[in-house]
Formats: sequence, structure tokens, C-alpha cells
Amino acid sequence: MTGSANRPVRIAGAGPAGLAAAIVLARAGRAVEVLERRSRCGARFSGDLQGLENWSGGGDALAEFRALGITTDFHAAPCRHGVQTDGVRDDAFAFDTPAFYIVKRGDVPGSLDRALAAQALALGVDIRFDTPCPEGTADIEATGPRGRAPFAIDTGIVFETDAPDTAIALLNDDAAPGGYAYLLVTGGYGCCCTMLFDDFPSIHRRFALARELLVERRGIAVRNPRAVGGLGHVRARGSWWSGVSRCVGEAAGLQDFLWGFGIRLAVRSGALAAESVLTGADYAAAAEAAFSPRLRIGVANRWLWEHARAGRYALVRGALHAAGPMRLLGWMHREHWWHRLVAPLGARGLRTRYPVVFDPSAAMRAASAAAPDTSAA
Ligand SMILES: Cc1cc2nc3c(=O)[nH]c(=O)nc-3n(C[C@H](O)[C@H](O)[C@H](O)COP(=O)(O)OP(=O)(O)OC[C@H]3O[C@@H](n4cnc5c(N)ncnc54)[C@H](O)[C@@H]3O)c2cc1C
Repeated sequence: MTGSANRPVRIAGAGPAGLAAAIVLARAGRAVEVLERRSRCGARFSGDLQGLENWSGGGDALAEFRALGITTDFHAAPCRHGVQTDGVRDDAFAFDTPAFYIVKRGDVPGSLDRALAAQALALGVDIRFDTPCPEGTADIEATGPRGRAPFAIDTGIVFETDAPDTAIALLNDDAAPGGYAYLLVTGGYGCCCTMLFDDFPSIHRRFALARELLVERRGIAVRNPRAVGGLGHVRARGSWWSGVSRCVGEAAGLQDFLWGFGIRLAVRSGALAAESVLTGADYAAAAEAAFSPRLRIGVANRWLWEHARAGRYALVRGALHAAGPMRLLGWMHREHWWHRLVAPLGARGLRTRYPVVFDPSAAMRAASAAAPDTSAA
């Protein structure tokens, strides 16, 4: 058990990873304090719609959260129909069980962030806003990416609309080379974004095309658009510990390197670190067993995606038709021998391409390049 049961467990960061850890600890009767450097929860996002995926293993994401003791009272719209498009041809798919849940991020009504913070507060967790915590000093470090060189940039808009609920993924080398663009609509609220893993300065042009293909050409009404977006970061994880802190979520480098998904890994790792605080179990060993395969899979998938440039879209379309999206995604996220073979190459490539040093100027340049122009909206 960490420290004395009399002193509060200290968590740095009130994102999904930190709040999940706080909830698990507080439910087990421990006193918990969460130090958050910003003035509110979810401040990294501002009403963006994100996907809580169900394809990477572990069953249904909401069921997994509930099994961890997390109440799923946030807006989570199950996606049972989806479209994959190259901008010209649409392929529609139906899913027996939700492919993912559309959730809201940021300090907005119904968001994941607000719901987790409310649960933590109701359990007596002391969340201190505007309180940065020095690296490596908390029991659990859930501080997110910490300004390493950007790995991915996402930019777009959220808006009100009378369009029906929808989920469309656009794979197209003009709109998002090596990345993807998407349109999500749930309950009269929409989000259209482009996610790039390369060529960051072109993001405005790419997003304009994605918006044309996903929104305008489909006659989707857009009211009161607001710019959203952000940066994904890559972090070289030498250890699951930093100083005396168990690292969780993106602070531990936990992210799917193929598409950037990280919410489930954040919550799962937060809960695992909390368990290790409660039981004294070896966190590094547990985290290594739980997450290393996922990291290898993501790194290998991205390497393959980037090196299969010529035929990748035809390959995806063929596989989608042959297997269906959920079987394809499930297969891609299960570890195969070729993941293990390719992962070291992928890791070397990532290290070369995204220098893992603290480079605030690069992050700021990328962030300002990513600020979308909503004037034409
Ligand atoms: C644009 C974008 C779109 C994304 N879309 C998806 C998606 O569709 N699906 C998905 O699963 N994932 C998605 N992700 C990834 C997902 O958002 C993250 O993986 C997830 O939020 C990580 O949670 P976390 O708790 O580890 O970190 P964060 O959410 O970054 O939270 C960390 C918190 O720590 C605070 N903090 C930082 N430093 C300190 C400090 N020194 N002291 C105290 N507090 C500190 C921060 O202010 C922040 O509140 C997306 C990411 C981006 C950028």
C-alpha cells in the first residue's frame, strides 16, 4: 500500500486517467486529492465529440467502466451504423453491437470530463484546480502529454444541426494523408474534424476539403460553428514510474498510434494504478502485462499503414467488405506475430520522426498552424 492510509493519495491531473484512479480509490475508502493545473476539468477540449471504441479488446467500453466502479451517466451515443467513404463512394455498415460510443469532451454539459469530475467530487475527492503538481511527486501521474513534440494534429468544428445522427469516416489522401477525417452527429450536435499525422502546416486546406466532402456535399446544415482541435503527442516511455509516481494515460505514452484513441487506455490504466496503490501490487509489472502488447500493436499498425501507401485504401476497402469493420478492427488490434516483428521498426521510426524532447516552440507552432478558420462557416 502506498504511504499511510491516513494521508490522502495524491493524483496529478484531472483527465480521464486521473479521475478514474480517483474514483476507484475513493470507492475503496481512501482519501484522495487531485491536483489539476488548469481552472476546470477537461480544459484540453472544448465540446469535441470523440469515439469511445469497442474494438480493441476488453468488450464493451461502458460495461468495462461500470465494472471498475465508474458510473456511465455521461452522454454516450452508441454507433450502430457507420459510413466509410473516400469522398466519392460511400460504404455503409451496420453493427450488431455498438462499434463505439460518441462522447463529448471538455467542460460542457453531458461530457465525459464533467461526469467523472462530478462522481469524484460526490465520493469526497478533493479536486484542486489551478494547482500544478511537479513531475514525479504524486502517487499517480495522470498529466497527459506534457508538451512533447506533436505526433498528430486534429482540427475542425462543432456545430448545431438538424441532421440525423451519423458517423462517417473519410479516408482520402487529399483530405487527410495517412490520417482520417470524420463527421459525427448526435442529438442535433455535430463535429467535423481532420486528423493528420504528417504535413501539419497543410491542416487548414485539408480540413476545408474534408468539410466540403463530409458536410457541404451532404447538405448538412451547420449552425453556430465553433473551432475545436488539439494535439496528440508521442512520449518515449522508459518506465511506468516517474520519480515516486505511477504513470497512467497519455503521461505513460498510452495511446493507439494508428488512430490516436486513448480514452479507454487512460481509464483502464488509472484504475490499474489505483489498484496498485490499494493492494501494493507491482504497478510496473501489471502495466507492462496490460499495455505493452497494445503499444506494440499500435506502433506496428502505424508503421504498416505508412509503408503500404500505394495500396492501403484499396486494401482497407477490400477487407471491410470481406470481413466487416468490427472483425477487421478486432483483428488489427489483436497481437499477431507480424506486430512483434514490425514494432521495433515502427518504434525506431517514431523516435526519429518525432523527437521526444520537450520542444514547446514546435508544439506552439503546430498549435497555431492548427487553429481553424471558421470565418467561412
Ligand atoms: C484532438 C484529439 C482527438 C482525440 N480523439 C479521441 C477519440 O476519438 N477517442 C479516444 O479514445 N481518444 C481520443 N483522443 C485521445 C484522448 O483524448 C486522450 O488519450 C485522453 O484524454 C488521455 O487522458 P489522460 O487523462 O491521460 O490525459 P488528459 O486528458 O490530457 O488529462 C491530463 C490532465 O492533466 C492536467 N495536467 C497536466 N500537467 C499537470 C501538472 N503538472 N499538474 C497538474 N495537472 C496537470 C491537464 O491540464 C489535464 O487536465 C484524442 C486526442 C486529441 C488531442
